[in-house]
Amino acid sequence: MKFAGITSISLLDYPGKISSILFTPGCNFRCPYCYNRELVLYPEKYEVITEKQAIKLLEKNKWIDAVVLTGGEPTIHENLPSFLKKLKKETKLLIGLETNGSNPEMLEKLINEKLIDFIAMDIKTSLYSKKYSKAIGGKENLTKIKKSIRLIRKSKISHEFRTTVVPGIVSVKDVEEIAKAIKGEKNYFLQQFRPGNNINKKYEKKEPYDTSILFKMQKKASKFVKCKVRL
Ligand code: SF4
Repeated sequence: MKFAGITSISLLDYPGKISSILFTPGCNFRCPYCYNRELVLYPEKYEVITEKQAIKLLEKNKWIDAVVLTGGEPTIHENLPSFLKKLKKETKLLIGLETNGSNPEMLEKLINEKLIDFIAMDIKTSLYSKKYSKAIGGKENLTKIKKSIRLIRKSKISHEFRTTVVPGIVSVKDVEEIAKAIKGEKNYFLQQFRPGNNINKKYEKKEPYDTSILFKMQKKASKFVKCKVRL
């Protein structure tokens, strides 16, 4: 498995821990508002970091307690489980995974083999076919998304669900629908959309929602889940 980048320290990506972020190249979605344009569309442009190099860099970093794999989409890489086994064995770091939920088979394997300690899954919009396809820039597979949600909720692994609230893709009603679908969850985050370097250039000119709308969404979601806003 190869990586497209690594950051030294983040206080935000693994709850309560200092972490490094490891970026995997490529993604199977094409969310029009995605900020990781190059990583998704032109992964070959990145300098490659090998597994060995990544582990060495993480070992050298004495500040961190955890590593978070993000992308792109980490679960599209078949050898993710074997890399995580090595990572666990050689570094003893906690492992976090950010995923779009499109690969429940891989998620199940990672959960069953105890290879991850924290999962953050994006729920892009309400779980309706047309809406989801628009949000991911292609044909949805809602069966897989729903299966991932179920697996994560059933697991004993610390987790959160997140939605980036993009005007035209996520409405107040959608947030309410998502919250209803994950009723009882303790960590549902609404993230502000930020235009710039988006996959679809049109989104670079899109105005984000006013903050007051995010708080309105939070209020609606809070009927079903514990919901926080990330501005
Ligand atoms: S926002 Fe969408 S396209 Fe971008 S990395 Fe996440 S899932 Fe892939």
